[in-house]
Amino acid sequence: MTTNANTSDLTLHIKTVRRAFRIPIPLDNQIMGVMKAESLTYTDAIIVLLQRRLREYQEKHGVFYCQNCSGEYKKKQAHVVPVGFEEFIFCDDCFFSDKYKEFIRKIL
Ligand SMILES: [Zn+2]
Repeated sequence: MTTNANTSDLTLHIKTVRRAFRIPIPLDNQIMGVMKAESLTYTDAIIVLLQRRLREYQEKHGVFYCQNCSGEYKKKQAHVVPVGFEEFIFCDDCFFSDKYKEFIRKIL
């Protein structure tokens, strides 16, 4: 009984998010694929994909913000460090002085 209720809640949640963002079916199928492959909720899959795309957008447009010191730097100074499903971007200083490792330790 609980499983059916949870499945029903999950289906309702997905339908609600899908409608709220007017997600087209081909894109929805890809999000569902990521959701299942990464064992994420539908919303978390959208957030992870959106975060990645925003980072790519920021990189493409020339600047990024270091996730350790929050400074604004040129794209060519970016060092991308993958951690699990996420990727974090650090400046030359934070990367080469290993300050980024403390940042990653704090978030884990
Ligand atoms: Zn930095």
